[in-house]
This record gives sequence, C-alpha cells and structure tokens, in this order.
Amino acid sequence: APAGRSAALRARMEEQLLSARFRYINQQLYTSTSREAARLFQSDPEAFEIYHRGFAQQVGRWPENPVNRIIRYLRRRPASLVVADFGCGDCKIASSVRNKVHSFDLVPLSPLVTVCDMAKVPLVAESVDVAVFCLALMGTNLQEILEEANRVLKQGGTLMVAEVASRFEDTRAFVNAMAQLGFKSVSK
Ligand code: SAH
Repeated sequence: APAGRSAALRARMEEQLLSARFRYINQQLYTSTSREAARLFQSDPEAFEIYHRGFAQQVGRWPENPVNRIIRYLRRRPASLVVADFGCGDCKIASSVRNKVHSFDLVPLSPLVTVCDMAKVPLVAESVDVAVFCLALMGTNLQEILEEANRVLKQGGTLMVAEVASRFEDTRAFVNAMAQLGFKSVSK
C-alpha cells in the first residue's frame, strides 16, 4: 500500500484501540468501588492518561459539556461560596470561577488537584456551600460517596450532579434515594 494510505489506516486503528480502551476503563470505573478505582490508576498510570484523552474526546462531541453549565451557575452566585469538585478531572471549575474550589481526583491532571478517593476527602464537616459531581459519580459505593458530600456540605448547601441519562435506571427512584440521604431535590 502507498505509504500515506497505510499511515492513515494505522492512525485510524490506533484511534479505535484508544477509544475501546477508554470505554473499557470507563466501564470498570462504573462497576467497581472507588477504592478499586484508586488501585487501578495507581497500578496503571497509563490507564488514567488514556481514560482522560478518551473522556475529552467523547465530551467534545456533545452539544453541551455539563461542566460549563455548572460554571455558569456558579458565576451567577456569590463568589464567597466554597465549592468542592468531586472527580474534578482537569479542574475546569477551579480555573474558571473566583470561588474557593477544593478539587479532588485520584490522579493530578493539574497542580490544583488534591489527590484522594472521593469517598474520603480531607475537609472538615460543614465547610462547603456547593458540592459538585460532574460526570464523576462513578463508584458502586455511591451511597458512601454521597454521604461524604453530605458531611462536608453546610446545612442548606447545594449538591450538583451531572450524569448521562442512560446511567439511570429510574430517575425518580434516584431522587427518592437522595432524599433518604438528606438531599431535597430543588431542580432536575
Ligand atoms: N468533573 C470533570 C471530570 C469528569 S471525568 C469534568 O466534568 O470535566 C471523571 C473523573 O472522576 C475522572 O477524572 C476520575 O479520575 C474521577 N474519579 C473517579 N473515581 C474517583 C474517586 N473514587 N475519587 C476521586 N476521583 C474519582
């Protein structure tokens, strides 16, 4: 085959392999506990890099990236509100608003990241006004993770969750379960 064509074929195949690996890792994150996810990325740093490249590629194709909506919401509210970004990725929120933002992730994509499992974040109780999970409510231990968000949130604080619709078997059941954990639904 002409050199140009085989290079293009090779590039296309590499692209497909990469997106397959992304989907595989994504699936692993959604089907394991947050502690297993932490172990996965510790034992295989390349997995995190591939995951994030795939994530950015995927979200780039969407008509709207939910993180931008969260940023717009925060900009309309007082900059004095303290924010916790659970599973912050590249810290888009922290770098886009004037608020104090605590950014948590398993691996630091940015110096703004505090590395930890979001099931146990290094914040004192009732210290945060807004807790965010933007495409990051991943572990099967999500009750424990949401309880952790509840612990660090002040009374009357705001929890924001952005997830793809297909992740929910039954949104009403999810909202009811959230109510059991102490979160009242304000808008959906
Ligand atoms: N919120 C960002 C990134 C979403 S990708 C955005 O919207 O752009 C999901 C992120 O959650 C990844 O960076 C992943 O590493 C992180 N994550 C998954 N499980 C985690 C855990 N147990 N603790 C901390 N971060 C976690």
